[in-house]
Amino acid sequence: MMKRTLTFLLSLLISYGYAQNPDSVTIRKIYNEALSNGKSYEWLRHLTKQIGPRLSGSAGAQKAVDWTKQVMDQQGFDRVFLQDVMVPHWVRGAKEEAFIHIGKQKTVVPIAALGGSVATPAKGIEAQVIEVKSFPELRALGADKVKGKIVFYNRPMDPTKINTFEAYGGAVDQRANGATEAAKLGAVGAIVRSMTNVHDDNPHVGGMRYGTGVALIPTAAISTNGADLLSKSLQENPALTFYFKQNCETLPDAKSYNVVGEIKGSEKPDEIIVVGGHLDSWDLAEGAHDDGAGCVQSIEVLRIMKALGIKPKHTIRAVMFMNEENGLRGGVQYADLAKKNNEKHIAAVESDNGGFTPRGFGIVGKPEQREKIMAWKPLLAPYGLTEIGPSGGGADIGPLAQTGTVLLGFKPDSQRYFDYHHTTIDRFEAVSQRELELGAASMAAVIYLLDAYGL
Ligand SMILES: [Zn+2]
Repeated sequence: MMKRTLTFLLSLLISYGYAQNPDSVTIRKIYNEALSNGKSYEWLRHLTKQIGPRLSGSAGAQKAVDWTKQVMDQQGFDRVFLQDVMVPHWVRGAKEEAFIHIGKQKTVVPIAALGGSVATPAKGIEAQVIEVKSFPELRALGADKVKGKIVFYNRPMDPTKINTFEAYGGAVDQRANGATEAAKLGAVGAIVRSMTNVHDDNPHVGGMRYGTGVALIPTAAISTNGADLLSKSLQENPALTFYFKQNCETLPDAKSYNVVGEIKGSEKPDEIIVVGGHLDSWDLAEGAHDDGAGCVQSIEVLRIMKALGIKPKHTIRAVMFMNEENGLRGGVQYADLAKKNNEKHIAAVESDNGGFTPRGFGIVGKPEQREKIMAWKPLLAPYGLTEIGPSGGGADIGPLAQTGTVLLGFKPDSQRYFDYHHTTIDRFEAVSQRELELGAASMAAVIYLLDAYGL
């Protein structure tokens, strides 16, 4: 009995000790502020509903630049500025058309041109179809079987992967390089199964690139239901034809901007910690999870610090990167300018995995730097941030790693991200206010610790 009482008293003392730890107290205040007075959700509403799609080079992208600058000006951050960056300017043109053609029967299927693709001829393309699951399978068929046909890539994302980003990584080569690999064997087009585990009618777009020295053939994403139907139809009628028409075009590069807001450091103003997301989205999407969420969360981190009177030692910057989706020019430009201006970036945190329930942070850095961050787990775990360890940082902050910046990728729950990714349904309604705010608080908590303890 005595022993049990002692153990109980001891555990009370320990939890009291943690609760009174000044870092715990500050982190509690950060969450309270985000969940009681948060602004990220209303900002996201404006960015998605009033501005909407904002592919690089579009009028929407320019509006998003102007508006996020204005929001940060209104917050009274110490400095808000733009960084010029030239971006690719690809436009979709009129909506695509596609159908499966068997005898007299034409069955319409949903497709969407992949970003960067060329158009079909004005009358479209119609050809027989070769279905494959991989590049080795395609190469084994050889030019004899592929020439003059449309290659149909139909390897699904692996549903058994618990982290859906891993499943995405295991399938996305088909989208990125499918057209080039097909063109090498004389194909006239490439149709790619959408990158999602969901069975629905939404084509999931995304970037692709052409290799040098091969024909530029048109390529499009087909919805997963469309892909299943095409596959089944091919089993029954291997000689069927597929028709598609798309009207996209690459225009000359356009001028755009990264948008930056900062709070000056009180002790080490020349050492910078970045928190960011990317401002551009695909043209079909409101870009709510990808990556409006990351942008408004990043601005919210600075707002929370100001609201709580936290005076950071280092300079803290919120960065809205431009052109992550089809070029990464903003991320590259940001790192180039940092180098040119001799800026020392000690750490960069990116949110580009959706506005879902926070789970943790992936870290890119030296082992001792990773361990330092992982030692903060007892402070963060009470908020559900338990997955803290080596993993990816983020595409936009990636180029900063060359100069030794430690990268942290915010990791929310991944289960629903690819339901919405790069589609018309990635809209404001798909984001939970509470989950978005918890994410902003999680990022603010880790920024607070990075600033307090350095690396
Ligand atoms: Zn993104």
